Amino acid sequence: MNAARAKAVKANELGQIPVLMYHRIVEKPGTQDDRTPLQFRTELERLAKENYVPITAAEYVTGKIDIPAGKHPVVLTFDDSSPSQVTLANDGTPMPNTAVAIMREVAAKHPGFRPVGTFYVTRDMFGKPDKIEQAQIITWLKTNGFDIGNHTKDHLSLSGKPQNQVAAEVAAGHQLITALDGPAPVTIALPYGNQPRTKAWALKGKDGAVAYDYGGVFLAGYTPAYSPYSKEFDPVGIPRIRSMDKKGDCMKFCSTAWLDWLQANPTERYTSDGDVRSVAVPKFQQPMVSAKFAKRALPY
Ligand SMILES: [Zn+2]
Repeated sequence: MNAARAKAVKANELGQIPVLMYHRIVEKPGTQDDRTPLQFRTELERLAKENYVPITAAEYVTGKIDIPAGKHPVVLTFDDSSPSQVTLANDGTPMPNTAVAIMREVAAKHPGFRPVGTFYVTRDMFGKPDKIEQAQIITWLKTNGFDIGNHTKDHLSLSGKPQNQVAAEVAAGHQLITALDGPAPVTIALPYGNQPRTKAWALKGKDGAVAYDYGGVFLAGYTPAYSPYSKEFDPVGIPRIRSMDKKGDCMKFCSTAWLDWLQANPTERYTSDGDVRSVAVPKFQQPMVSAKFAKRALPY
């Protein structure tokens, strides 16, 4: 019966998943990473219309992709903890045109579009120098189903650093979040997307009393990501796609271009069978299911 449903919706839970990378959401973009509130809203509207449902980075790396049959997961990620992503008014609601406010508005217009995403924070902590205000934002994110990831405390490049320095940078970012009563992060995004000499140092390590053991390390370019159920999924280097229109170096490798490509190549894209427990795949794909998820495979 489940196989029949999987077949009916052409489920492919080994298909690719776009992990979109955002920085600031501001009226006057200052860098090629910034998007305006209108551009951000327009991209979310497109995702909703094309049957994407947001999941968090934590849900993605742990394989908890609980979305309806026929829908496609998308991971929305936000780097550098800018106030344009989340700022709360005095009554505790998000300020207009912040990323979280826009996500909630789009979700209200499109039932089933989950307003969730992952915030990769640094010591900037949404522009709040005060620890209590930082804790208020972390609590608000946690309470409203958002995910908080590590982006290291000081946002230094980890490339070329010895293992103890890599571990110290990552652990300091981890502690920044847990010290505010935030949930222990499940994933990390590397500053500038730069990997340490031994890639796994960012995934697992220890500095003094602080240990980390992540489900995934995210980079800063430039393709859709493998399904977490695929043998090709590699937790030490998960690609992300920069949000941008088709122009310049974004003709092929940023969000508009990749969403066009996924729309034009539906068999390459992850499509859910609606059952979080099974990994539904066309029969010939079964050998690509990783050992970790082999028991959950539902070939059809
Ligand atoms: Zn960054």
